[in-house]
Amino acid sequence: MANEIREKGMLYLAGTPIGNLEDMTYRAVRLLGEADLIAAEDTRHSRKLMAHFDIHTPLTSYHEHNKLEKGPELVEKLLSGATIVCISDAGLPGISDPGAHLAKLAIDAGIPVSPLPGANAALSALICSGLDTTAFSFYGFLPKTVKKRRELLAYIKEKKETVILYEAPHHLKSTLKDLVSILGPDRKAAVARELTKKFEEFRRGSLGDMLEYYELNSPKGEFVIIIEGFNGEVSAEYETEADISPGEMVSKLEQEGMPRKEAMRETAKRLGISRRDVYQSMLK
Ligand code: SAM
Repeated sequence: MANEIREKGMLYLAGTPIGNLEDMTYRAVRLLGEADLIAAEDTRHSRKLMAHFDIHTPLTSYHEHNKLEKGPELVEKLLSGATIVCISDAGLPGISDPGAHLAKLAIDAGIPVSPLPGANAALSALICSGLDTTAFSFYGFLPKTVKKRRELLAYIKEKKETVILYEAPHHLKSTLKDLVSILGPDRKAAVARELTKKFEEFRRGSLGDMLEYYELNSPKGEFVIIIEGFNGEVSAEYETEADISPGEMVSKLEQEGMPRKEAMRETAKRLGISRRDVYQSMLK
C-alpha cells in the first residue's frame, strides 16, 4: 500500500476506540506507526493502546492544560516537515476533547489537516437511540454552574432537532433531574451506557423514566443522553403543575382517583425529584 506520508508537514486527527480495541481502523494504526510524532492527551493512557498495536512512534503530551504552549511548538515541528497524529484518550479528538485548537493553529499556519475517522460516543449513541437522526445538536457536557446550565437547558428546551449530551456517572442523576424539570418528564429520550464495552446498555423511554430508573440504580460507567427535539406541544398538565408543591400535586392526583403511593411516584416523576423529597414535602 502506498505510503501516505510522502509529503511531510501534515497533521492528522485520529479516532481511537471508546471501549472496544477492535474499533481502531487499519489506516489509523498504520499512520500512527508511520508518523514522526503522536500528540496524545494522556501519554500514559495512550501507551497502552500503542503497545497493543505494536506502534513505536514517540509520544508527546498535548492536552487542555498545556495546549497554549504546546500547540505552537507542534506547529513549528509541522512547519519544519513533521507528520504528527493527534489523538485523545478515546474517540475523536476535538469532540469534548483536545484537538480542535491544534487543528486551528495548523490551518492558520497553512499546514494540511486531515481526519483519520474512528469511534465517537455521541454518534454511536444517536444511531441506536431510536430517535430522529436527520437533524441533531451536540452540546457535550452541560456547564457546571447552575445559572449557565439552566440557561442552556432553557435554550435546548425549544430545539426542534434531537439533542445529544455527554455526562459523567456522578452527575447523571442531577442532569436528568434538571432535564425533567426544564424539558418536562414526557420528552422521549435514550441513555446509552458503556458503548462498545462488556456492559453496553441502552435505555429508551421518557426523561421521567430515565430519572426514575437511575434514582433506583446507581449510574456506573460512561453515558450519552439523547433527547427528542421539541415537537411544539408542552403537556398541559406539565405546564400548569410545574409550579405547585409536591404535596399539592399528590393531593390533586389523589382527588383524581390515584392511590397515594402511585400519586407520590407520579409526582416525583413529573417534578423530577426523588420520592423521598415528595414524602418530606408532604410531612411539611
Ligand atoms: N472524544 C470522545 C468522543 O469522540 O466520543 C468524547 C470524550 S469526552 C471527554 C468523554 C465522554 O464521552 C464520557 O464522559 C461519556 O459521556 C462519553 N463517552 C465516551 N466513551 C463512551 C462510551 N464507551 N459509552 C458511553 N459514553 C461514552
